Order: sequence, then C-alpha cells, then structure tokens
Amino acid sequence: MKGKCWDKSFSRFMYISGLIILFNIAVLSIFGLVYIHFTINTYNIILLFLILVIIISTVLLILSTAAVFNAYKNKKISKHFMWFVKSALKTVFPAAVFVSTLAGVEKDAVRKLFVEINNIAVESTGLKYRAENILILLPHCLQNSGCAIKVTNDVNNCKRCGNCSIGDVLKIADRSGVPVIVVTGGTAARNVIGRDKPGVILSVACERDLSSGIADVGSIPVMGIINERPNGPCRDTALNIVELEEKLNSLLSV
Ligand code: SF4
Repeated sequence: MKGKCWDKSFSRFMYISGLIILFNIAVLSIFGLVYIHFTINTYNIILLFLILVIIISTVLLILSTAAVFNAYKNKKISKHFMWFVKSALKTVFPAAVFVSTLAGVEKDAVRKLFVEINNIAVESTGLKYRAENILILLPHCLQNSGCAIKVTNDVNNCKRCGNCSIGDVLKIADRSGVPVIVVTGGTAARNVIGRDKPGVILSVACERDLSSGIADVGSIPVMGIINERPNGPCRDTALNIVELEEKLNSLLSV
C-alpha cells in the first residue's frame, strides 16, 4: 500500500515535471521563431499590446481599490461597485497577502480586512435565508479544553454549561432553528459544506482559516466572524456572541 502511494506520487511528479519541460520547450520555440522572423514593427506592436494590457489592469486595479475603500467607509456596496469589490477580493487581496509574505510583514491585518469587506459584500446583497438554509460552522478550538464531551459528532451532546462559547452559540441557534456544526479543520468543513449544501454560511475561525475558507467555498456566500484567542492560537478560543447574533439576524428571513 505504501509502495502504491509512493508510485502514485512519483507518477504525478513525473507528469507535472514533463508538462513543465514541454511548456518551456514550447516557449523557447516561440521565442526562437520570433527572434528569427519578426521585424522591428512586430516588436513595436507587441510592446504596444503589453502597454495596453498594463494600462487596462492598472485602471481595473485603481477602480477595485477605490470600490474597497468606498465599501469600508460606507459599510455598504452599491450594485455598481459590487463587481469591482468581488474582483478585488479575488485578486488584490491574495496579491497583498503574497507581498506581505515576501516582505515578512504581518498578514493577518490584510486577511482581517478581506473578511470585513467580504461580510459587507454578503450583507449588501440584502438576501435573506430560511433557518434551515443557514449553517453555523464553528471551529473545535472554541470548546473548553477541559470538556470531555464530543461535540464534533453531534453538537447537541453539549450541555450548554457556560464554560465555553459553544453553549452560547447553541442557545442562540436553538431559538431560530439554525443548524450548528463543530469541525476539526478545513477539510472537515469542506466535507460538511459539500454534504449539506447550505445557502449561506456563518463561520467562526481565525483570519487565516476564514480568508482561505471564504476563497475556497466560492459560490456559497460566507459571513465570517474572527475568533478571539486569549490563550494563543487553537486553544480555548472565544467569539463575540453579540456579533454572531447580529450577523445571524441580518441573514434570517422573518
Ligand atoms: S458549553 Fe460546556 S458542555 Fe458545551 S462544549 Fe462548552 S464546556 Fe463542553
């Protein structure tokens, strides 16, 4: 079994390496042909085309950044700006995280803004959902580390004892009938979303998990709440329960 796994990984590695080599050969051949046959006019046309591409992408970047600024300032996105905000969420923010990584600076500030702008985009659609079409997704690290009850299998095992935020979330969810699931990580979350296919997700996690989760889910709107980490990451975390209730009410149809 181990050998079989290794064979599969090795074949995949060889396949990808082969593709990269073929790609490089194709690019080299094209450059070679260009070098041999193209005139100075052709080079000028290519240069003009590249200038045009850079001008268009710069204009789009300026408009997307302005749309994000507008959303941040007004806490609302008009339908004229929505496309630009969504394209900024897909392009400008990942680029900003990448540049922050290269520069060795704090990435969570960019991710926090990403979650905030994404939430404004979800709220600005004004869409309302029935309780059963909403899914509250909680991370396992919210559970009190001293609690032996297994809540990942069935959250209703929780005794609502008040020693962690899971009980508080359940009390709110019980009132509206919204399902709650506690997951151990990103893969478990993706499996639950694939199985339950909710209309909208209200998810609690750290900046990194929330931003990658929102980007992964794609077609399903996700409202994010960043957790509080008084004991460091991934242990006895908490959340602002008032914020959760407000966000839930903003999604629920009456
Ligand atoms: S509220 Fe109490 S019973 Fe429920 S998960 Fe937290 S510590 Fe455990």
